[in-house]
Amino acid sequence: MRYDVLIIGGGPVGNYLASLLAGKVNVGVIEKKGAFGGKACTGIVGAENYESLGLPEKAILNAFNGAFFISREKVFEIHRSLPQAYLIDRKVLERELAKRAMRKGAEYYLSTNFLGFKNGKAILQHLDSRLEIEAKYYVGADGVNSSVAKEIQARTEGEVLKGWEIEVLGNFKRDHVEVWVNKNINPEFFFWVAPINEEEARVGTFGEIDSLAKFLKIRRLNPFKTVEIKSGAVILGWRKPWVKGNVALVGDAALQIKPTTAGGIVFGAYCAKSLAKAILNDNLEIYERECSWVREQVSFGLKIRKVFKNLTQEKIEEIFEVLSSEEVRKIIVERADFDDHVKTVKALLKNPRVLAKLIRISPIILRALL
Ligand SMILES: Cc1cc2nc3c(=O)[nH]c(=O)nc-3n(C[C@H](O)[C@H](O)[C@H](O)COP(=O)(O)OP(=O)(O)OC[C@H]3O[C@@H](n4cnc5c(N)ncnc54)[C@H](O)[C@@H]3O)c2cc1C
Repeated sequence: MRYDVLIIGGGPVGNYLASLLAGKVNVGVIEKKGAFGGKACTGIVGAENYESLGLPEKAILNAFNGAFFISREKVFEIHRSLPQAYLIDRKVLERELAKRAMRKGAEYYLSTNFLGFKNGKAILQHLDSRLEIEAKYYVGADGVNSSVAKEIQARTEGEVLKGWEIEVLGNFKRDHVEVWVNKNINPEFFFWVAPINEEEARVGTFGEIDSLAKFLKIRRLNPFKTVEIKSGAVILGWRKPWVKGNVALVGDAALQIKPTTAGGIVFGAYCAKSLAKAILNDNLEIYERECSWVREQVSFGLKIRKVFKNLTQEKIEEIFEVLSSEEVRKIIVERADFDDHVKTVKALLKNPRVLAKLIRISPIILRALL
């Protein structure tokens, strides 16, 4: 058996890549699970990129035009006329992308585990059988704990975070996400509340499970009205190289994850598009260059993450004071971009009054970001 491209991992990124390549080259996809979906993932994605990447409309559960930002002492609201983010159904997303790829000719091997490479072939385990499949190009789209990355001896430098996500019943403003920043409850990360509708929401954070329990109490959400609990891990940082010989990594396997929010669907899909271009041009060397936007966002996001980790809650309150001003909210409404934090921060720092206020709060923050 020989394919032009063998993709290891039928998650959203692997399936999206398969859908871009199928019909143009022979594609095989290896997925260790027997069904698509099921991973812990809230499913918040930037609306503009979701659409421009051509990701399936059918997976959209809800659209967010606004957000409430809530610290220990302050609350402010951002509201825009168009949806800035979508809430998607991961299972539907993965299945729809896989169906697209299958319709164009991609072949899927479910319940099949990638074990490693031997003599230039992928060694796979399907139930009781060992399979060997040869391909011109191999792609590791097998998530943060990528076996393909281990096979090519990619180096990982990053922060491992355990994430928790629950689905609860309550009362929510349907088109607003809530972002709660309170280091006294969780020093590691913010809390999100992403409504599915007025009565159901996905709530989560990264860090210790205890902090989520405390948050439910503060947010007055009844833990006994939890419909689902999921957990999973992300790594915020770098994994290099993304290409070695005829093997490439994409998505979480390459840590193409936004360090500020731990979102990886849009960045992974963006890089999958770049990788598809490189494969179709028969030149993997252009892959990294083609996704320089994601590399820039990850690099800047890691700086913001470092700043966040060093901030006290008192400093966060001072920053909230600046962000909640009429002037800054106007800049955010007009210029902020859900996925492009370089653009968003640049727009804020261009304003001399905002710059002066932030310098007063902490010159170190600015030095770290500039
Ligand atoms: C709690 C939590 C909340 C999150 N919320 C969001 C969010 O709101 N928005 C967002 O954009 N991102 C979010 N993420 C991150 C998001 O889940 C990932 O970035 C995304 O899943 C990456 O997709 P992927 O296809 O690269 O990897 P994965 O989704 O991990 O898919 C990898 C696939 O490879 C398969 N696989 C693994 N090993 C093998 C093997 N040896 N052989 C064969 N198959 C294999 C797996 O079964 C899986 O199907 C969240 C993550 C967590 C933990």
